Amino acid sequence: MAATKTRIDANLKRLRENIATACARAGRSESEVSLLAVTKSADMEAIKAVVELGVMDLAESRVPQLVERAAELAEWIGRKRTDSPPKVRWHMVGHLQRNKVKPVLEAASVIHSVDSLRLAEEIADRCTKTGRTVDVLLEVNCSQEPQKFGCAVGAAPHMAELISTLKPIRLVGLMTMAPQSADAEKSRPTFSLLKELFDELRHNHVGGDAFRHLSMGMSQDYAVAVEEGATLLRIGTALFE
Ligand SMILES: *Cc1c(COP(=O)(O)O)cnc(C)c1O
Repeated sequence: MAATKTRIDANLKRLRENIATACARAGRSESEVSLLAVTKSADMEAIKAVVELGVMDLAESRVPQLVERAAELAEWIGRKRTDSPPKVRWHMVGHLQRNKVKPVLEAASVIHSVDSLRLAEEIADRCTKTGRTVDVLLEVNCSQEPQKFGCAVGAAPHMAELISTLKPIRLVGLMTMAPQSADAEKSRPTFSLLKELFDELRHNHVGGDAFRHLSMGMSQDYAVAVEEGATLLRIGTALFE
């Protein structure tokens, strides 16, 4: 195996072990938790290696990188001589401006960073024009830092309800970013607040059965996120370093 792939393989094994341990601690099933490979610090060789190692969910935080890498990877997969080419899904996890919705929809299957009704409506309009649907998550500013993206905690229930009524959009969950810190425990209140909101919305049947994802936890704090109910872990550094 090439050096890059060997390194990523070891990282992936360690991450999966830690995720399994955190699931056991929290009394959760490992099957509820998916690892998304955030590729912003990775080169194409590393991205191809992670796909060959079986990670099918890839994520980018910036539109140009998303578009470029999704295209390059699709071309690589297209060249593979196999009956079952890998079925990769791209997730957009970074801040999204309304004028960038079109290229994002062309590249991504899931958008984690919907944080306003106007953005959701723009996505819905574009989907209607092209006759498709898309999975989205509502990003909530649960750390309540003023510089952070995401809708305000108080506004989230109503906004989720409105977004869930837009036809071509499937509201599949909530997303949040914890404060930057080397101490994973500092993320716990942010994550538990998102889980509280999530439980409230589910209780009110917002989004129906499709509404089942909590996108939270990164390289520093994914174990805490699993303990607090995360279903989608967005991991970059700890996978590609
Ligand atoms: C970069 C990024 C991540 C991954 O961060 P790591 O600390 O490298 O794991 C997750 N989510 C978003 C939105 C990001 O921008």
